[in-house]
Amino acid sequence: MEGTLTARDKVGVQDFVLLDAHTSESAFVDNLRKRFNENLIYTYIGTLLVSVNPYQELGIYTVSQMELYQGVSFFELPPHVYAIADNAYRMMCSELNNHFILISGESGAGKTEASKKILQYFAVTCPMTESLQIARDRLLLSNPVLEAFGNAKTLRNDNSSRFGKYMDIQFDFQGIPVGGHIISYLIEKSRVVYQNQGERNFHIFYQLLAGGEAERLAHLGLERDPRLYKYLSQGHRAKESSLNDKNNWKTVSNAFSVIDFTKADLENLFGIIASVLHLGNICFEEDPQGCATVPDTHEIKWIAKLLGVCPSVLLDALTHRKIEAKTEEVICPLTPGHSVYARDAMAKAVYGRTFTWLVNKINSSLVNKDVTKKTVIGLLDIYGFEVFDKNGFEQFCINYCNEKLQQLLIERTLKAEQAEYEMEGIEWEPIQYFNNKIICDLVEERHKGIISILDEECIRPGPATDLSFLEKLEEKVGEHAHFQTRKLAGPKGRKRIGWMEFQLLHYAGEVTYCTKGFLEKNNDLLYRHLKEVLCRSSNRILRECFLVAELENRRRPPTVGTQFKNSLGSLLEMLLCKEPSYIRCIKPNDTKEPSKFDDFLIRHQIKYLGLMEHLRVRRAGFAYRRRYEHFLQRYKSLCPDTWPHWHGPPGEGVERLIKYIGYRPEEYKLGKTKIFIRFPRTLFATEDAFEFSKHQLVARIQATYKGRLGRREYVKKRQAATKLEAHWRGVLARREVQRRRWAVQIIRRFIKGFIHRHRPLCPDNEEFIVFVRKNYILNLRNHVPKNVLDKSWLRPPGILEHASDLLRKMCMRNLVRKYCHGVTDERRAMMQQKVVTSEIFRGKKEGYADSLRQPFATSRIGVSTSSLSDGILVIHVSPEDNKQKGDAVLQCEHTFEAVTKLVMLVKKENMVNVVQGSLQFYITPGKEGTIVFHTGPEEHIYKDKNGQLTVVSVRRKS
Ligand code: ADP
Ligand code: MG
Repeated sequence: MEGTLTARDKVGVQDFVLLDAHTSESAFVDNLRKRFNENLIYTYIGTLLVSVNPYQELGIYTVSQMELYQGVSFFELPPHVYAIADNAYRMMCSELNNHFILISGESGAGKTEASKKILQYFAVTCPMTESLQIARDRLLLSNPVLEAFGNAKTLRNDNSSRFGKYMDIQFDFQGIPVGGHIISYLIEKSRVVYQNQGERNFHIFYQLLAGGEAERLAHLGLERDPRLYKYLSQGHRAKESSLNDKNNWKTVSNAFSVIDFTKADLENLFGIIASVLHLGNICFEEDPQGCATVPDTHEIKWIAKLLGVCPSVLLDALTHRKIEAKTEEVICPLTPGHSVYARDAMAKAVYGRTFTWLVNKINSSLVNKDVTKKTVIGLLDIYGFEVFDKNGFEQFCINYCNEKLQQLLIERTLKAEQAEYEMEGIEWEPIQYFNNKIICDLVEERHKGIISILDEECIRPGPATDLSFLEKLEEKVGEHAHFQTRKLAGPKGRKRIGWMEFQLLHYAGEVTYCTKGFLEKNNDLLYRHLKEVLCRSSNRILRECFLVAELENRRRPPTVGTQFKNSLGSLLEMLLCKEPSYIRCIKPNDTKEPSKFDDFLIRHQIKYLGLMEHLRVRRAGFAYRRRYEHFLQRYKSLCPDTWPHWHGPPGEGVERLIKYIGYRPEEYKLGKTKIFIRFPRTLFATEDAFEFSKHQLVARIQATYKGRLGRREYVKKRQAATKLEAHWRGVLARREVQRRRWAVQIIRRFIKGFIHRHRPLCPDNEEFIVFVRKNYILNLRNHVPKNVLDKSWLRPPGILEHASDLLRKMCMRNLVRKYCHGVTDERRAMMQQKVVTSEIFRGKKEGYADSLRQPFATSRIGVSTSSLSDGILVIHVSPEDNKQKGDAVLQCEHTFEAVTKLVMLVKKENMVNVVQGSLQFYITPGKEGTIVFHTGPEEHIYKDKNGQLTVVSVRRKS
């Protein structure tokens, strides 16, 4: 419930005790309107439920709604009729005591619907065994039967209950509904013979005509058309909603079969219903003596047949009256007017008593024969306060009943409040309230009350009239502060009260009653003559209803007023020993329209339902009370000490909390288990603070939650990554294992091949040998000799020695061939010269062997002379040869002969070089010297300043 404290601006408060202006009727109506406009039809006043008839289906009575309210603490959820039902049920189960739910309100306010909802709630949510299902079904199906016989269409309500109903639902120790009992109050019998414009008789008549099988109707002597029956056609609405009647007939017929009605019962019952219709159609005429006669006895015959009486006796009883003089009986004829009265009285009596029989019959089918102790929840669906333009005897009884119930409510509420204060150890503050005992006494007090005066007037010998009754009232209770008549009222009040009227000041307001018909209705006389006829009926139901003992009893039966007073007395006695819950029903408009909120009408009902008074009593002390745990649970976030958890006793937590948020001492009291808050504004301020802090909390919770989510996601990813990694490692490891296994095989094969390498080629060594071959060949590629003189060769493995030899030879041959192709002519000549040299010197001259290594260089010996006439001759030896001593410089007289001889010897003409000016020569290897040639007057050879050898010769004439 606190959940919607926040929405109070829009939808009002869910509990009227939280209204700041709790004494203002306007504030009350405003709150009701706000909620009604949002289709919130229920509101609490403490534990009392106020319900506004929505006149539309709201979808709030589903099974899931029922489940929602099951076993939930009363204030946790929005107000609902299910919460009331569940609360009563839980308390009954846990405390094993009896309860009742009092539902009151105007006609059409939704009382009967509420009681049906409660019954359905129990039917659906209570535990159930298969064998007890039948009890449950009977409880549920008793409703349509009672409604058919006791409800009618009125201007206010298409399905108006015309009787008060109290229904006990009995539960066994396990909380299973096992039986029930119904008490009916004051069925509106007058409706059988008369209906106002626009209203109808009881549903059953129309249902029988619309839905009854043709044979049944023929058997009952009925026609389908309701307009043919006087009792059905006064309201001129007889034809309306015949379709519903037909469907409802089916429901009712089905219900009859479930609640133990035999065929004979039904035959008798519908015989009575039909005979009432026939009764209505009897016409009386006046004979010359002014006595009543019945010209057409057709209807009489049907009634006689259906009720099992003699037609002539019936006719007699309807047109004559037995008057008992002291010792003898005198029979005197009736006027047509009296006959009509007698006929109607018979119809009413027959219907009224049949209804009572019906209730008893249903009760006998609901009775639970098991004698173990039962607990009960009673549902009281009873007419609310009625104030019309003209109020008669019925309104007087109804309002008296409400007065009594209001007394019960106020006393019980006060008592409950007081008990709660006491239990919580809080000082009781006396509450001023209007005690309506004074009005109850005015009506019911023995010998002095209005009912007693009325009874007296009824039995008084002599001509008693409604007027004389009024005079008696003035005489006996005229002084009473709550009683007023035109005569007693001052000149001011006179206008408002008629001559035949008296006014009572009820707790809910003034009501003026017209005394017309009071005596007759209170007497409710059925002529003895007719009673006798009915007692002798062969219809079993009637025989049970009209007992012969009644005829023999000479005492007057109690009057209607007294009967009602007595039954009300026993009802209250019954209620007093049960725990109460209350539902107050309000109807929002007179036109049965949804979403129409008639302020005037509602104010009126608020007044007559005593809601403001009830609220005042509830609010006199404290507006709000909650158990410490609940209060702390909701508001603990407002104080750092109690948030997020309070580990001490909840009461101390609450104390700490309210100290922190600054409650002033007059605003609250701390009981033993509850906190009591005096003003709604204190609670609302707390609620607003909570609303504010909630946003912060939400943000924090959200952040934490998001963090959690993120972390969870991260952990998930990490786990996934680890798994992937592990898998991948596994894959790699497996591959490595494979690789090694492969390597081991290879190595093993290699070793095996090596071991068997000397054997002829076989599978064991084949691979190895191929490998060795390949390996040797590939290696050899890098070690092939580069020239013919290179004798190196890669050493072959044993198995390849032969191949290696062949290869070496081939290779050598190839090198030699290449070499031979590459030798120049010059080199060949030189080699040939070497061969000559060998022939000359081999073995004969020392140093020859050394000279072998050097190539035979022809260029090494050259001869240079100058172009002048000197005799200088230079023989050049090879400058690269370090062992030479240098070039030989010779001087000879016969230069030409010497040079020529040399040239011829060597057969190389171009070895002579004739130079001009100077020539270069090696003094020692690497060290060069120059000889400069001049001409001069005389021959001369010397070393000049530069160390150069200078040769001067004499120029000769040629
Ligand atoms: P009462 O018994 O107080 O005279 P009913 O309970 O018969 O009134 O209600 C009169 C009509 O109002 C019902 O037939 C139904 O159409 C309507 N009604 C009453 N209560 C509700 C409800 N809670 N939801 C929807 N319609 C409702
Ligand atoms: Mg009703």
